[in-house]
Amino acid sequence: MTEAARAAVPAEPDCLFCRIAAGTIPATIVHQDEDVVAFRDIAPRAPTHILLIPRRHIPSAADLVEVDGPLLGRLFAVAADLARSEGIADAGFRIVTNVGRWGGQTVDHLHLHLMGGRAFEWPPG
Ligand code: 5GP
Ligand code: ZN
Repeated sequence: MTEAARAAVPAEPDCLFCRIAAGTIPATIVHQDEDVVAFRDIAPRAPTHILLIPRRHIPSAADLVEVDGPLLGRLFAVAADLARSEGIADAGFRIVTNVGRWGGQTVDHLHLHLMGGRAFEWPPG
């Protein structure tokens, strides 16, 4: 699918994160631009726990294609900026995206978890 065709895919009316991106469900937004929205997780698992989403509805990382490269670059660049502004960049932080049931995904709209402010274990549980 071309980027133009992708951009034409409408928001999913029943998708929680599409609705947060559209502003119809409230969230503590920490960044928004034409392509990316970032907001604080409602149930934080770390002192800093931010979710970054593309405005466009993509169900998960399993649905990404090559033309999504610039969008992914944007998501990671915004995450790096937020890590700096949140004061977690120097100590280190974690960026995670869960995929599917066994991956622990509970909201079917692609999101990066940006987590920091404490040490994390590896591998995750
Ligand atoms: P997943 O489990 O899909 O990787 O991550 C979904 C995340 O969304 C969870 O960390 C969960 O706490 C968060 N979440 C679920 N519902 C809401 C909501 O209504 N608002 C916000 N800000 N976060 C939510
Ligand atoms: Zn969505």
